[in-house]
Amino acid sequence: MSPVAPLVESRTIGRWKAHAIQAGGQKLDGGAMFGVVPKPLWERRIAPDERNRIQLGMRCLLIEHESGLVLIDSGAGNKENEKFHDIYGVENRGSSGLTQLEDGLQQLGVRPKDISLAICTHLHFDHAGGSTTRNADGQVVPTFPKARYVVQAGEYDYATHTNERTAASYFPHNFVPVKESGQFDFVTGEKEIVKGISVMPTPGHVPYHQGIKLESDGEVAFYVADLVPTTSHLPLPWIMGYDVEPLVTLETKRRILARAADERWLLVFEHDAKTPWSRIEHDGKAYVLAKQ
Ligand SMILES: [Zn+2]
Repeated sequence: MSPVAPLVESRTIGRWKAHAIQAGGQKLDGGAMFGVVPKPLWERRIAPDERNRIQLGMRCLLIEHESGLVLIDSGAGNKENEKFHDIYGVENRGSSGLTQLEDGLQQLGVRPKDISLAICTHLHFDHAGGSTTRNADGQVVPTFPKARYVVQAGEYDYATHTNERTAASYFPHNFVPVKESGQFDFVTGEKEIVKGISVMPTPGHVPYHQGIKLESDGEVAFYVADLVPTTSHLPLPWIMGYDVEPLVTLETKRRILARAADERWLLVFEHDAKTPWSRIEHDGKAYVLAKQ
């Protein structure tokens, strides 16, 4: 059994049906996931394995929007080798589809060609790897042939001009084929993409990271992605060592979590192995999951 079941969890956001699809498991070094937080503190929240890695998910979000099906992030895809899967603890092979993402879509009766909009928070391999697929001929092609793909223009530039520190997370085959097929719509800053679904810059993890705000009939959900990868990352200084600008992450978190608590946003947690979504509140010391 997958370490991160269930495959699909569904609810409504306003008048839309929303489905969290668990695109697979991933294991990353616990120290790196919690930055400067000492192990005696973080291991109480998520126990590490014998290689000091913690179990994470790679949760995508599918929205049944009036304009068509909208998919947010795409998991790790099917293009990496065994060694890579071992190092990063990626377990995302599909039982009937190519990956767990395709399995989840299939469970919902959705084919890749039914997706009309594919938004990525950023282009790291565990968020955009499923945006392209290695097909039976060995060619790498966009997974969603009829979709427009949305990412910040600055993120594409950042992903294609890497340095020694950033290169390990950006693989050109995850995004260059989408550019070549003409399916990217690059955006700059905050923008409503279709009615009620907006991208909002949330920098820090990478400079052009974006969150996705979903607003329908007065209910607001926010897909935080790597700003708050798991529910254990709600305290402001619990910031990943992977972030290229951790002090920028801190200020983005301060701003976004204050709004989320005040305005009762439903946060969607991409990397949490168990909890797909929750509202949050401040308990006087830190942000915590709201009781309801
Ligand atoms: Zn990332």
